[in-house]
Amino acid sequence: MLIKRGIPVSPGVAIGPAMVFGTESFRIPQQLISANAIEIELARFHAALDATCQEIMLNEKLARERLGDQYAAIFSAHLLLARDQQLVSQIEERIRQKNSPEFAASQVLRQYAKRLRDLGGQYLAERSIDIYDLEKRMLRHLLGERREELSSLTAPVLVLANNLTPSETANLDRKFVLGFATEVGGHTSHTAILAGALEIPAVVGIGSFLDEVSGAQTIIIDGSHGVVIIEPDADTLAKYRDSEARFRSHEKRLQSLRTVPCETKDGVPIQLMGNIEFPGEAEPCRDKGAAGIGLYRTEFLYLESNREPTEDDHYRAYCQVLKAFPDQPVIIRTLDLGSDKMPGALRADYPESVNPALSVRSIRLSLQHLQLFKTQLRAALRAAALGDLRIMFPLISTLLEFRQAKMVLSDVVEDLEEQGVEFRRDIPIGMMVEVPAAAVMAEEFAREVDFFSLGTNDLIQYTLAVDRADQAVAGLYRSGDPSILRLIRMVVEAAQRNNISVSVCGQMSSDPMFIPLLIGLGLRQISVTPHAIPELKEVIRNLTIERAVAIADRASSLEVARDVENYLWGELKKLCPESMQLD
Ligand code: PEP
Ligand code: MG
Repeated sequence: MLIKRGIPVSPGVAIGPAMVFGTESFRIPQQLISANAIEIELARFHAALDATCQEIMLNEKLARERLGDQYAAIFSAHLLLARDQQLVSQIEERIRQKNSPEFAASQVLRQYAKRLRDLGGQYLAERSIDIYDLEKRMLRHLLGERREELSSLTAPVLVLANNLTPSETANLDRKFVLGFATEVGGHTSHTAILAGALEIPAVVGIGSFLDEVSGAQTIIIDGSHGVVIIEPDADTLAKYRDSEARFRSHEKRLQSLRTVPCETKDGVPIQLMGNIEFPGEAEPCRDKGAAGIGLYRTEFLYLESNREPTEDDHYRAYCQVLKAFPDQPVIIRTLDLGSDKMPGALRADYPESVNPALSVRSIRLSLQHLQLFKTQLRAALRAAALGDLRIMFPLISTLLEFRQAKMVLSDVVEDLEEQGVEFRRDIPIGMMVEVPAAAVMAEEFAREVDFFSLGTNDLIQYTLAVDRADQAVAGLYRSGDPSILRLIRMVVEAAQRNNISVSVCGQMSSDPMFIPLLIGLGLRQISVTPHAIPELKEVIRNLTIERAVAIADRASSLEVARDVENYLWGELKKLCPESMQLD
């Protein structure tokens, strides 16, 4: 049994067979075979080994003809490895111990790779990559037509990967991917956020561990505590099955809060809305008790498919969300493409930048691709005729940028008018406050915008200069940093003075620990990951405004993030002792 720790990003427990994505990248169907199948499976292994060697020899020949001996040598090395008698007998031995050939080959090759890597040095690390290549080939031959890739699974798996891009995560088959764990990633990376949207337990930022696991091994992912266990023993399995059941019943109890009003103990209403990435999430989000959509990350329309969405694709998606919330606000955030969310079609325009988070992303990209931007705005204005749709611009840094975005919107209004298309023009236009410059200038912005939404994920990243997706600095990414509390207070006060609404839609507001603080700082609108709604409602209903203000004042007097977070955690335990028992 091997225990790995990382960053918990989506709660719950998942138990099942591993699928190691990126190297083997297809599912190993089973780990064990029956005793009377051993000879047949040994023959199958040798047939696959022969086919693998033939394939490598062909590649060796082609490389020699087209590129020369130097390149052919790469394949010669693969061939030597595939014919290594010691390696072959180790795989045979495992098959005789009733392991399937796929599992046996994967495990033996991965152990070889790990031993090489552990010796250190770049040369040996590169040789370990050759071994993964051999594993992939051999599995391809063993599985043949039965091969299942990540997008076409037929049985449940736990996906283990070095990294999953937001597009890969968006395309995970929700029915069969029970959970995932990655070597890289931070608290609020978009991949982490998507895990919450998919409601599957997830742990990121574990560091290197993939060479210690092979497909079909039993894995536990504890997304509440950031733990991944490889080949758990019987006692551990029993313990986690029990905590899986307790998590489910806790969820069920919270679900009963769905219909009770979302208000503090002293009767002050708090508007708890949902953050969504896909239109299909709108209905389940409403069923969790959301009072509208506070953030619809529309860029996932691009990331879900390989082609650029048309105006009608946008329109249909927005109508689907409005249909789920006919009388409540739906805030469409315009495209936040770029950085880790660069669609394939735009990659050529923006070759790798040194600092992608500081480069052409979000509103900057929309203002450079007016056609793309206008297509979306047209669809949003048309859909607005059907409900309370509002538009929000992301990553606004300067007043000029906001004014430019509004000017593009005015052009679109003019076009629609000229063309006699039905739409609504008097819709509220807001902005995300997620760049420190915008928070500092909140007073000036508040005179021009209809609403603010605090995007703490980026606000923390840019204020503390900590990449939100980089596990190497994950310990420095602190929502409780006093600088963040101070910026939030500034923005809320500017909004109050100018009589505009303000909400928080970053992940910070989905963490129950920060709810008393945010309400104490004056927030009355909060937009969160839908699965968190029932739990947050419970916190809100146990809280009075007086207590929230006292908590916010005390937290604001502390000087370091650790003290702020410890204090808030202690207060949450006092407020909701029942929920905290789970930990
Ligand atoms: C944020 O930055 O807080 C936010 C909500 O936007 P995103 O996570 O999509 O960058
Ligand atoms: Mg953001």
